[in-house]
Amino acid sequence: MSNPIEDISRVKSTELFEQAKNYFPGGVNSPVRAFKSVYGSPLFIERGDKAHVWDADGNEFIDFCCSWGPLILGHNNDQVREAVIKQLPNGLSFGAPTQLENKLADLILSNNRFIEKIRFVSSGTEAVMSAIRLARGVTKRDKIIKFEGCYHGHSDSLLVKAGSGLVTFGETSSAGVPKAFADETIVIALDDETALTKAFEDFQGQVAAVIIEGVPANNGLLLQDKSYIQFLRKITKENGTLLIFDEVITGFRLGFEGAANYYDVQPDIITYGKIIGGGMPVGAYGASNEIMSNISPDGAVYQAGTLSGNPIAMAAGIAALTQLAQPGFYEKQEEKTDAFVTEIRNFIAENNFEVKIFSISSIFWFAFTELDAIKKADDIIPASMENYKIMHRELLNRGIYFGPSGYEVGFISAAHTKEDLTKAIASIKEALVEVFK
Ligand code: PLP
Repeated sequence: MSNPIEDISRVKSTELFEQAKNYFPGGVNSPVRAFKSVYGSPLFIERGDKAHVWDADGNEFIDFCCSWGPLILGHNNDQVREAVIKQLPNGLSFGAPTQLENKLADLILSNNRFIEKIRFVSSGTEAVMSAIRLARGVTKRDKIIKFEGCYHGHSDSLLVKAGSGLVTFGETSSAGVPKAFADETIVIALDDETALTKAFEDFQGQVAAVIIEGVPANNGLLLQDKSYIQFLRKITKENGTLLIFDEVITGFRLGFEGAANYYDVQPDIITYGKIIGGGMPVGAYGASNEIMSNISPDGAVYQAGTLSGNPIAMAAGIAALTQLAQPGFYEKQEEKTDAFVTEIRNFIAENNFEVKIFSISSIFWFAFTELDAIKKADDIIPASMENYKIMHRELLNRGIYFGPSGYEVGFISAAHTKEDLTKAIASIKEALVEVFK
């Protein structure tokens, strides 16, 4: 049977993409945007409002990508927009301190038990890169441990994938990363206490930091047991190694205090990004007063930024986080997401489809698997991504925008209304029927 829903028009988007290929490698400024893992070519987005986006051909979508996570309040949030407009006439950048930085820092620090001082940067990559340098500076050690399937931005030390074996020196996952850098990164599987123990035995006294995503959400949603994270805390402490929670996705998403609060685990350093800037480019890292005293100009670990603490970005961040700090904000998000995934789960069960929807807080992920839990990267079967491709196309054709890769998670924002979610559920059900027909 042929597909009963016609493909959306992409005339203008295709024309713009062809033009863009003359300017940018692959026609994009960040690789996943190129739609290489799904059907068709990228949609050029013209505008967004609440939970909806419109592309250059006038197609309207309910957006579950939400700019890859920052837009927990949806597009064009009234308070964020007004705060940015208010700040604009005062200037775009000074390269000098502003009161806005103090305000955003105070808002964060007075509502977060896990860090005492913070430093603003301009992206998640920068936050993590700086946190790793800080950990190395504090411990005077060079090696770091990361987990297979966790993404921490594109700095050299972290563009490293696992080699073969229980505990391996990493292999670079990008050309241009010196082997010597990758040799300082040890990569092990998630959810494996034995591998972690062995890594600490093999590299005793050499590991500066273990870094883990608050909840690994860049290679599917790899939900970890709390007991494993607690073990991570214990073994790092025993070895004088710092524990870094990369909360670029989970920060202000799993709650205002993120994954640290969710697990009730005190990491040594936490990195933030995405939501913290209300949609503007902001990242941050924070830790205790003692650890942060090592950062320049107080300490010997150098880190700087021309546009760090940018006033427009700070204004957007303040306006966004003020709304998130209101009582009940996260409970509402979770209730909404629970109802959404439960209805889809029931439909999947009724139809016996081989697909799962995993979720935490307002994050969800469709996994085409028979497994009841997926905790490590290896448990994802690459061939299952073919099903995601079909689902993605079917959803676009029904006005639902999911990220253009089956390894990416979806996000529900405060702007998604009951009507949006009801329409999305109906479309997802139809798309799944198409996948499994
Ligand atoms: N860390 C995590 C957990 C991320 O998800 C990302 C980006 O997706 C980064 C770091 C890098 O952040 P950015 O893309 O802002 O550089």
